[in-house]
This record gives sequence, structure tokens and C-alpha cells, in this order.
Amino acid sequence: MSFPHLKWLSVALASILFLNPFWAKAQDSYTVTVEDIAKRKVQVTAKLFPESDTLLMSPFGATHLKDGWATFIEDLKISNSEGEKIDFTKMDNGVFILANSQKNKPIHLSYNVNIRHEQSKWPFGYKEAAYINDEMLMATGNALFLTRLDVDSATVNFQLKQPYKVANAWKQTAPATYVANGAEELVWTVLAIGNFNLSEIQTGKTKILLAYSNDLSASKKTIESTIRKAVEKYEAIYGSSPSKQPSAPDKYLYVMNVDTSYVGGGAAFTNSISILLNATPAHTTKAGTTSWHHILIHEIGHLWNGRSLKTDESTDWFNEGFTDYLAYKVEHELGLMNKGEWKEIISQKQLGYSKAREKNKASLASAGKDKGSNYDIVYSGGLQFAHKLDTEIKEATNNKKGISDFMKNMFAAYASREQAVKNEEIKAIAEQTCSCDLSSLFQEVKDQN
Ligand SMILES: [Zn+2]
Repeated sequence: MSFPHLKWLSVALASILFLNPFWAKAQDSYTVTVEDIAKRKVQVTAKLFPESDTLLMSPFGATHLKDGWATFIEDLKISNSEGEKIDFTKMDNGVFILANSQKNKPIHLSYNVNIRHEQSKWPFGYKEAAYINDEMLMATGNALFLTRLDVDSATVNFQLKQPYKVANAWKQTAPATYVANGAEELVWTVLAIGNFNLSEIQTGKTKILLAYSNDLSASKKTIESTIRKAVEKYEAIYGSSPSKQPSAPDKYLYVMNVDTSYVGGGAAFTNSISILLNATPAHTTKAGTTSWHHILIHEIGHLWNGRSLKTDESTDWFNEGFTDYLAYKVEHELGLMNKGEWKEIISQKQLGYSKAREKNKASLASAGKDKGSNYDIVYSGGLQFAHKLDTEIKEATNNKKGISDFMKNMFAAYASREQAVKNEEIKAIAEQTCSCDLSSLFQEVKDQN
């Protein structure tokens, strides 16, 4: 039996799709121009194909500011393809509403981003927003792109003054052009522009681009070899390179700088990481939350736990606490931290967690709702839980297995899944690893609320 009508329809559709450019997938495009990083000005022009009347800056990361990321946007102009001005209304938190519906019609934007983010206070530090130093302008996509929520993919072209270059985590499609797949890849990322140092660190299948300023030039070798050795250690722990996805990125970007007036820390974005150390690396650095090797090795760990293994608020203790525990374990194994320091850190974290729990009754599973005020429950609580689990697995298996076997099993089971891991799944994999009952240990994850 045949369906001539359907056949006709599919032929008609195919011809429309292939012959009529109106049906071709419209791709948003941006051009980013930087003349002089010292002037703190990034010019952006864009052609977008909005499916609604709403444009917005990223709703994440700048919620402490009334206008969100749009606080730093100046001279915004919007027009249609005929060059006619399109009026818009600016709402709170970086949302803009176009006066007339522009559905399926391209619009043209032009604006400047004033890179003054580091001059005001950020909840987790300006390294998660944007800044400049002598050689580099660092910005998250959040700081740069006015976009739409339903963007499929966007090209980003850079026009930079010589000898400037750009480093980013997107796929390169032409000499100065990159493509970001979806809103998250476009805005939840880190990029560097300027005349900075760039090294490529290849370990097995994992390529890391390290972008850094001259402050760190003397430490280049130490940093590169630490990254390489840490990646090898993590590959052994997880039994895999960082991504199991078929769409695994071809590289990761680390932007690393020093600010002695900052406490020191790092943040993981899509395929990219922003690190700000409080001092240049020294072999003598004592291990601890803000030591250069801990910040670096903790953030490397998030390529596996956090990016491939996805978590949400209820499993943030697993994301941060286990990443932190494994980072110290790797540091210990690499000789960056001795046994005494390792023990001291475990007892410090246990104490920090107990104190935080006295003040705030939040359980591990509920603490992630407010990571800022529950820092010691999420990080220290998660770390001491990882230590307890490691110990229980070792005891139950006569030292044949430990936390690495558990992480390997977690990675094998969930690293290709889009959905966040659940607390029940963590417990099930832990029990499967030790072939034992861990109900009383896991009581701590959900007790009290
Ligand atoms: Zn972290």
C-alpha cells in the first residue's frame, strides 16, 4: 500500500527546505571588537532572529545587581534590516522587551560592554564576571552577550587589534570565528582577549589551553606539569577522559591570573575555568583551600564531576565535597601535600562542618539551595562524607576497594546522562561498590530539614 498524499507532502516539504532560504535555519551571529584592553571597552554587534519580543542577558550570576549583567551595557541600539530603529523597554535583571513583535525577522544590535566588573563586589569574586590586567581582558559570556533564551547556535567573530588574540572554549570554524551551541555554551563560558601567554597541554585525549599573564610566566613549567599529572591521576580515578559524550569538546580553556588582594579561588564554566590565585605558585605552598595547587586541581576535577557527571542543588554536596576530597587526595599522591597536612585538613573540615551544622540545621541535600551561606555544609560536609564513604568502602572490602572504585562506577553509570544524579543513585552505586548496606551513613544526607 502506498500513501501518495504523504509522499507528495514530504517531497513538497523537502523542496521548501532545500530551495527556500526562508526555511533555512537562521543562525544568530555576533561580532566582538576590542581596540585596546586598557580602555575597558568591548564593542558588540549582532544579528539575531528572535522568536519572541524578549531579549536578555544571562539571568545567572549577577542577581545581586538590579539590572543584572546589563549594568555594564551602554549605547544599546536595535534596528530592523531596513535600518529602522526598534524601540525597547529595559526591565530589571537585564531583560529587554521589543516594542513590536519581530518574530521571524532578523534584528540588528549594537552596544558596548564597559569592563568595570572587578571594581564592584561579586558574591563569589569578580573572576566569575570580567576583569582586565596589563595583558588580558577576561570576560565570561554572561558579561558580553545580549541574547534570546531559545537560541540554537550562534557564531562569534572577533575583530581584534594586532597583536591581540582570543582564547575561548568554542569550536573554531574559521580563523577568527567560533560557534557556540545553545545559550548555555554562549554565555556560561570564559574567554580571554589580549596579548597574553597561551600554552597547550595535551594529556592523552584531553587538551587544555592555559591562558595566563606575565605574572605567572616564571611558574609556567610547574603549572603545566601539575595540570598534566593531575589529569592523569583523575583519568585513573574515573577510568575515563573527562567527557564520555559523543559531542565531547576538542579542548578546555583555563584562564589563570594572580591578584594578591583576592582570597584566591576558581570557578568552572562550560568547558572552561576561571582561576584567580592569591600568590604566584611556589613549591613551598602549604596545602589548603586557597593554595595554588588546590584551586587548580579542584577545578580540574570538575571536568569529571560537575560537567560530565551532572548535579543539582540537592547533590551539590557530592559535586563540591567529593571534588574537593579527590583534589586533596591527588595533591597528596603528587607529593604536594604530606600525610600530616592531609590528616589536618580532614579534621579541620570535620570541625568546620560540625560548627556549621550547629548554627544551621540544613542537611547535605538541602544545603545546596543556598551555597553561599551553607558553604561549610556543602564543601566541608561533602568532603567529610567522602572521607567516611572511602573508609567504609575500604573496611567492607578489606582494602580492595575505595573511593576511586565508587567514582569509576558513578562515572560509568551517569557521565553520559543529561539529567543530574540523584541522592538515591549515589547511595545505590556506593552500596554496589562495597557490597554493603550504607543506610546509616546516608542518613546524614537527608536528615533534618
Ligand atoms: Zn568546585
